Amino acid sequence: ARLSIGLLFGGESPEHEVSIVSARSIAAHLDPERFEVRPMGIARNGVWVLNGDPFARLAAGEMPPRGPYPFLPLEAGAEMAELPDVFFNAIHGAGGEDGQIQGFLEPLHRPYTGAGLLAMAAGLDKWITKRIWESGGLPVVPYVGLTEEEWRRGSGEVLRSLAALGLPVFVKPANLGSSIGIEKVKREEDLPAALERAFTYDRRVLVEQGLTVRELEVAVLGGDDPRVSVVGEILPAGEFYDFKDKYLDGKSTTRIPAELPEGVANLVHRYAVDAFRALDAYGMARVDFFLDRSTGRLFLNEINFIPGFTSISMYPKMMEASGVPYAELLTRLVDLAVRRFEEKA
Ligand code: ADP
Ligand code: MG
Ligand code: MG
Repeated sequence: ARLSIGLLFGGESPEHEVSIVSARSIAAHLDPERFEVRPMGIARNGVWVLNGDPFARLAAGEMPPRGPYPFLPLEAGAEMAELPDVFFNAIHGAGGEDGQIQGFLEPLHRPYTGAGLLAMAAGLDKWITKRIWESGGLPVVPYVGLTEEEWRRGSGEVLRSLAALGLPVFVKPANLGSSIGIEKVKREEDLPAALERAFTYDRRVLVEQGLTVRELEVAVLGGDDPRVSVVGEILPAGEFYDFKDKYLDGKSTTRIPAELPEGVANLVHRYAVDAFRALDAYGMARVDFFLDRSTGRLFLNEINFIPGFTSISMYPKMMEASGVPYAELLTRLVDLAVRRFEEKA
């Protein structure tokens, strides 16, 4: 019998639309001999949309009211007699990639793709991620983490540690993605206003030394002994890889594989697996790096557990270039979900 796949997509984050595109692509390529897809959309208001064609309904911006189920955020009259055999999570960012949906699914006792709650929650938080990597001896760009309260107190120590980073710096909310809220600051006098703006997104913000970099990415796939893809490179069109470049005008270009000395590619592979393991990751991750153009040093930047996932996104393209075509990749992710579930049980 075919496995039923509850394909989760949409969600409450700014990456809602991207997730719809990822999920349509997944639905179109999941092996129809093995899997039967049940789209499960999460509208922008958090309500689960299960009736009719959830793809079309989410794409049209529908936000149905919650049904009469006090403990579940389902739409009224949700047509779902039983749980799917496996959940396939295609929700990017907050709600899907930060542990929330994983915690919600655990008590249902069904496998779901990707890592568990702990890895997801840690991996979406840039500050926690860096602390874990640093403690494992992995290289991260020099940074200062600040809570809003610490910044307001403005102790001499905080100001000195910020000054020690030099200029430019990048200011980033700790818990977002898609470059939202990220600013490059070139003049000292512009830093306070940039921090104020960042604090409108999050109570916790990172200030990072701004490097002149090549941006490298690698796809990781597997469980306790994961494999890594060839290394890819993003060539941003503007001053950095910002939201506009990622989703609006898309002028950036990519190279798969990146042209790199073998030593650098090997180091990317080694750090990617170490970074994945350090967070107790499972299933998949896209690990992003900076190669400092002036010193040649390699730094881990961030990890993305639900990276863009259309058939032409970086993660699938890097896996494809490494011998795992898109449909095969989807099958492996479902198989890994089942394996992780059985190992835990
Ligand atoms: P997001 O999770 O939103 O993608 P990133 O930390 O990857 O956040 O930052 C987005 C982009 O900003 C990067 O792809 C890069 O172009 C630029 N950037 C971020 N931090 C730095 C830095 N320390 N030095 C140089 N460029 C940076
Ligand atoms: Mg990110
Ligand atoms: Mg990024």
